[in-house]
Amino acid sequence: MVIVKKFLLKNRLYFIIGFCILFIFILYFFLFSKRIIFKENLSDLVIDVNSNFTPQGVSACYGNMFKCRGVDVSLYNEVDTSLIGDYQVKYVASYGKHKKTLINHVKVVDNVSPIIEASDEAIYVCPGSDKYDIKYSASDNYDGDLSDRVSMDVSDNSITLNVSDSSGNKVSKVIELRREDITNPVISLEGSDIYIPVGSSYNEPGYSASDNCDGDITNRVAVSGSVSNDVGKYVINYSVTDSSGNSSSIDRSVNVYSPNNNGNKVIYLTFDDGPSQYTSELLDILDRYNVKVTFFVTGRNPGYSYLIGEAFRRGHSIGLHTNTHNYSYVYSSIDAYFEDLNAINEIVNSQTGSYSNIIRFPGGSSNTVSRNYSSGIMSQLASMVEARGFKYYDWNVSSGDASGTIMDSSQYASNVINGLGNGSSYVVLQHDTNINSIRAVSSIIEYGLSHGYSFGTLDINGPIIHHRIAN
Ligand code: ZN
Repeated sequence: MVIVKKFLLKNRLYFIIGFCILFIFILYFFLFSKRIIFKENLSDLVIDVNSNFTPQGVSACYGNMFKCRGVDVSLYNEVDTSLIGDYQVKYVASYGKHKKTLINHVKVVDNVSPIIEASDEAIYVCPGSDKYDIKYSASDNYDGDLSDRVSMDVSDNSITLNVSDSSGNKVSKVIELRREDITNPVISLEGSDIYIPVGSSYNEPGYSASDNCDGDITNRVAVSGSVSNDVGKYVINYSVTDSSGNSSSIDRSVNVYSPNNNGNKVIYLTFDDGPSQYTSELLDILDRYNVKVTFFVTGRNPGYSYLIGEAFRRGHSIGLHTNTHNYSYVYSSIDAYFEDLNAINEIVNSQTGSYSNIIRFPGGSSNTVSRNYSSGIMSQLASMVEARGFKYYDWNVSSGDASGTIMDSSQYASNVINGLGNGSSYVVLQHDTNINSIRAVSSIIEYGLSHGYSFGTLDINGPIIHHRIAN
């Protein structure tokens, strides 16, 4: 110890001298030596993901504290604001072979919480059930769709949805949970309003009832009301109550009517150009209402000729429209017309067991197309058919179903309905080759029955409905 103390004492002077020299050297370096100096101080930055980032401008010079000349600074921006992470912005100043780099640290972070989308309305759960239907989605500015990561806390009266993003930002949404049933049951009727001809009995077409909580409660439906045999409108009521006391009620009207030839205002529905692939559907519709109509048939679809017999047996009237319906042939001469008329009458006879004595001219008696083939032929035919014992019918209400454009059923129905008035006889032109026209028939019949019309078929004694002959 003594030796060490002596050594330090002896050398104290050298230490002080050495220290002074070092201090002067350092002072000189800071005051006078030439070097690159950055003028700005940069502090570390924290910025939001997806924000706009523009690096700060930095300037530098070469020299010392007393004299310094500006130098170029190159900037290297490595920051990607679309990705969370730590980045650097590098500023490199150079002067000759001197070079100095300044680094600015930039941290890109996500501080934005995700968003949960869900209705604010309370959710109802059937009493005693744990089934509920909750719709939600979650999204985050950085992670995108987080719907799969939503967790749920269910209590007696609330559901809490929770989600957090990859940066740990959290959000919750509380939705009220009510354990009660406030939804009415639903009653469904087979068919809707019913039309039945007087004399037929009313058979319940069927119904069902279902409830969101109770399921099928058809057996709890109370049906009231009755239908008598008199013409009129009757109401059948269906009502049901679920186990939480929610009720529904619905009415069916049952119209008992007198369908055929039994009123002052008569509609004669007529269908030309068939039978076709659609005629069966028409026959079924007519059966539902027990309404009888008149078909002016052709032989153009031999595969469906059996439907002439079928229509006849179901009570409809069969008239003749010519076999070929080919204007250039049937209106080429008197002989050609009657040859073609006889051909279809043979088919009718073979299908029904009797010949028909009512006809409708192709194109109607007012057609002008026949002028192309034989001048004046319609005037001659109109009197000749009557001389031979036939009665011909035109129409005074058109459904418009013969035009080239196929229209909606509702359009055909309103064309017919708009053509009706307070007269005694309405002969309606339709074609059972047009399915949309056939599907208008229910509406036409229901309109007619509810507006004081009855429906009739044409025969040799029907009303005279003739157009003005134009050839
Ligand atoms: Zn026709």
